[in-house]
Amino acid sequence: MEQHSRTDVYADRYAARAAGMVPSEIRALFAMAARPEVVSLAGGMPNVSALPLDAVGQMIGDLVAGRGAEALQYGSAQGDEQLRERICEVMALEGVQASPDDVVVTVGAQQALDLITKIFVDPGDVVLAEAPSYVGALGTFASYQADVVHVPLDEGGLIPSALRETLASLRAQGRSVKFLYTVPTFQNPAGVTLTTARRAQILEICAEFDVLVVEDNPYGLLGFDGEPMRALRADDSEHVIYLGSFSKTIASGLRVGWVLAPHAVRAKLVLAAESAILCPSNFSQFAVREYLTTQPWREQIKDFRELYRARRDAMLESLDQLMPDGCTWTRPAGGFFVWLTLPEGLDAKAMAPRAIAERVAYVPGTGFYADGTGHRHMRLSYCFPEPHRIREGIRRLAAVVEQEIRL
Ligand code: PMP
Repeated sequence: MEQHSRTDVYADRYAARAAGMVPSEIRALFAMAARPEVVSLAGGMPNVSALPLDAVGQMIGDLVAGRGAEALQYGSAQGDEQLRERICEVMALEGVQASPDDVVVTVGAQQALDLITKIFVDPGDVVLAEAPSYVGALGTFASYQADVVHVPLDEGGLIPSALRETLASLRAQGRSVKFLYTVPTFQNPAGVTLTTARRAQILEICAEFDVLVVEDNPYGLLGFDGEPMRALRADDSEHVIYLGSFSKTIASGLRVGWVLAPHAVRAKLVLAAESAILCPSNFSQFAVREYLTTQPWREQIKDFRELYRARRDAMLESLDQLMPDGCTWTRPAGGFFVWLTLPEGLDAKAMAPRAIAERVAYVPGTGFYADGTGHRHMRLSYCFPEPHRIREGIRRLAAVVEQEIRL
């Protein structure tokens, strides 16, 4: 209980699970990073203003005028059937063959994470996650008192031999693993992508140890080169639960995501969703359905890719030119994030207030580890600021790192 604020007079009354609910470092940083003079490389906000807002406005107006009574009413807990059909078409771009009946529409992928953890995890159960892992997932796992065990990744994504060793060691301790949580493509926060060869190995290992995989894939269609990667779910429908989202390909404010799960799990998820929210927003679902039906959404995704590619290029060029020796960073082929490692002895968390004073913000690596490690790392987002601001931000950051090295 000691994690609750000392000034909280209700602290004694909370359930044990509320102890794990503490503000993430990211949230605290956002307040400071929001000042206009600060270049924020901290937030992971998609660039929704690149959408054709007038056309979307017209579409929403027509939706309310034409089918408002239905759009503004309650809907089914599983989600609108026609939207689920469209979702299956979207997943087919990554090789996934699925029935709309096995899809549950959720309030963003974040709610899918919550529902999955709720139905599978008892306090103390083991969940495997990449090191580093998505901070929002770690928050969810903490809220259900999961025991998160990290498995390292490198430039090629999650390391299969490390996964095998971790599973074998947990088995030897008599501990069962509820699932492996992974973001295989354009990972948040590391920006790396699981290679094709490793995809097959990871699936093989999980099948061998009979471990479920939760594949979280919000960035899969935002690759800068070639065709989308084949999803893990495309090659294993028995062990893989797939999470998708329209937050990055349409708009995060609509809060529409989904989960594709084996049939029995899907039924449990619908029951869990019913008691959590009754049903996802019909209005948002109809808006997404209309968008996918009436707007050139594939072209729009291409525009998003070009926009993010230009920003990725600006960030990598500036890092190459300006970062002092001893720093290393990943080279993402899609998505929103670069993961930077400082020279030995430097601490990104301790450095953050000094960076803010120099008007640049990033997210220290510690937030992406459940075990309090990650001090030498930071996440740099290139999704939101314009390229010239990214260059300025990296210039300021490089100067701060330079100073730290000399201290
Ligand atoms: N998973 C990952 C890896 C993410 O990066 C995010 C959003 N930052 C989410 C899930 C949640 O997305 P949504 O907006 O769909 O809830």
